[in-house]
Amino acid sequence: MNKVGITTTVPLEPFLASGTTPVDLNNIFISSPDPAGLVEEAQVHGYPRNICTWIKGIFSVACDFDGVVGVVRGDCSNTESLLETLDLKGIPTHPFSYPPDRNRDRLVEEIGSLCDFLGCSIEDAKDQAGRVRHLRQMAWKVDELLSLGRVSASDAHLLMVSCSDLMSDPSLWERRARDVIESSSRLDAPLECPKIGYIGVPPIITDIFDRIEGSGGNIAFMETQRQFTMPFPNEDWIGSYLSYTYPFSITGRVKDIKDAIEERRLSGIVHYVQSFCHRQIDDIIFRSELRVPVLTLEGNIPGPMDERTAIRLEAFLDVLEMSFSSVYHNDDKNEKKEKYPR
Ligand code: SF4
Repeated sequence: MNKVGITTTVPLEPFLASGTTPVDLNNIFISSPDPAGLVEEAQVHGYPRNICTWIKGIFSVACDFDGVVGVVRGDCSNTESLLETLDLKGIPTHPFSYPPDRNRDRLVEEIGSLCDFLGCSIEDAKDQAGRVRHLRQMAWKVDELLSLGRVSASDAHLLMVSCSDLMSDPSLWERRARDVIESSSRLDAPLECPKIGYIGVPPIITDIFDRIEGSGGNIAFMETQRQFTMPFPNEDWIGSYLSYTYPFSITGRVKDIKDAIEERRLSGIVHYVQSFCHRQIDDIIFRSELRVPVLTLEGNIPGPMDERTAIRLEAFLDVLEMSFSSVYHNDDKNEKKEKYPR
């Protein structure tokens, strides 16, 4: 198999070891010239209107691939049916599961089975771990620059979210990352404004980051995108996929976000949810657990932000800005440091 689609982050090392090109189907769908047309195509094929748009877009683009690896445990409850509809079209598919109990042996078995599907051994995959680690270190640097306001959220999003497939060309990804890192030193120092954390699934609203930054928010943390970079320098290559928070219990995600609120001094959180996605339920937990204001934004169809959502976002950022200014411009700078951002 030359090109194999993936529905989300899966271990990358077996792809490199087998000489297979991984293609993140989400990225192909959202960057296509007509993503809404792809959604319509899936509906014409029989996909229900009240099913998540990402799944429908993935189905339409997956039909052109030599095979598809879908995460059926730890990502999306719809992926099992997605793979079955692709099977029906004669496309070889492989279900991948992150073990819910984070059991290392079971994950090794899953990776071994992925290697079998792609045509390599797990030892070959292990040999690629150093190369993958080297590239991820660049992604960690991008994340650090994001936290300092030295790269735009759009650039950081693109580089971190594409750690799933390295843009299907690791050399290209490396060049893009190097360009962004090098150009960061030429940017002006960021303006003082409320720091925002973005959490939740990658957005279908194409201009969401520009809207947040254009309305006075400084995105300093991107939860899922950062997790796609496997930011775990002390783990070996298998351990990285066990420390990855996204496929496992929400407790790990909450801790990761709380740590970022503290370390990056975030003033508020934007939680993006997708219409008809089971992960919308997580919003209840985030609202109960996070001790900063949370704005939940919902998207359905790919495209720019609608006006109603934009007004809600601006109002949220205005409120954060008011409390930020009253604390930040306090004459007593030491007091400011203690109070901000609570
Ligand atoms: S947004 Fe939710 S329902 Fe849609 S593909 Fe992602 S996890 Fe599945």
